[in-house]
Amino acid sequence: MKTALICGISGQDGAYLSKLLCDKGYDVIGTSRDAQMSSFSNLRRLGVIDKVKLVSMALTDFRSVLQVLAKTQPDEIYNLAGQSSVGLSFDQPVETLESIATGTLNLLEAIRFMDVPVRFYNAGSGECFGQTSEAGADECSPFRPRSPYAVAKAAAFWEVANYRDAYGLFACSGILFNHESVLRPERFVTQKIVQSAKRIANGSAEKLRLGNLSIKRDWGWAPEYVEAMYSMLQQDVAEDFVVATGESYSLEDFVSTTFSELDLNWQDYVVVDKEFYRPAESLLGRGCAEKALRKLDWQAKCKMPDVVRNMLAE
Ligand code: NDP
Repeated sequence: MKTALICGISGQDGAYLSKLLCDKGYDVIGTSRDAQMSSFSNLRRLGVIDKVKLVSMALTDFRSVLQVLAKTQPDEIYNLAGQSSVGLSFDQPVETLESIATGTLNLLEAIRFMDVPVRFYNAGSGECFGQTSEAGADECSPFRPRSPYAVAKAAAFWEVANYRDAYGLFACSGILFNHESVLRPERFVTQKIVQSAKRIANGSAEKLRLGNLSIKRDWGWAPEYVEAMYSMLQQDVAEDFVVATGESYSLEDFVSTTFSELDLNWQDYVVVDKEFYRPAESLLGRGCAEKALRKLDWQAKCKMPDVVRNMLAE
């Protein structure tokens, strides 16, 4: 039986990945900054809380990282931890950079120090590309990050590439574009839209306040994306992969699809509020996951309208 260590197990992807790996017969150990205090509501919701072991680990504290790795002796490590909100990163740039870039570096250093054949997955982000072309960004596209979050993710990406190259570690980054689910907190715009639309459909008189409705994003379904993470660590050679649907829709499309699913006219309920505009914004985000199809046999089945329907169904 293989052992997987999931850093950031309490989050959306951590929960879906735990379920996937438990179903595959893995011994799953997950970390949280404070495993005693976290409610692990996502793990409870997916029914995996009793199947995983939970430990505390502070990614920015090398001693803590080394101790957990030495104690758990994982075959595979999935680094999903860190401040994950683009919007919040403008208000907490240092916390964002440290939790992502220093955190990833500590994991890589601990693996190198222990000198064991661990396979390492790093949660990269399509945000690193900044504004993409209509054709979509692939593994050869340049990074032009437009937020502290994207800068931190770009740094972590290059740390992984450098440790793979310099020290021969089996380490790779999945450059994932947005992926959503019912486990997303309302801080993220998709869940904010879905939950508000549901409340309005149930009689709430609230208005839904949003920022720039013309930005376009490549939205996929999170449970599919964790399968790509797993596949990357089963390859013979460690490589980076873009994971995306290849289709992008505007935020207005997302809003209108959600409201029309509930037989509502979105224009009656949505207010554009400059407060939600970001200091810098990428107008188009689209990924090209052809390499993932070719080498991992992975392709997104759910596109934005399916994502909306799935989120509304819960
Ligand atoms: P979540 O925010 O749901 O989970 C991330 C986890 O990291 C949290 O559960 C939390 O665990 C931990 N965490 C949060 N803030 C910090 C911090 N400041 N310092 C250290 N740890 C922190 O993210 P997702 O599951 O959605 O995403 C997983 C990873 O994939 C993240 O790295 C994210 O940036 C990246 N990613 C996500 C995309 C998406 O669309 N979902 C797209 C591309 C990349 P705890 O509180 O228990 O310590």
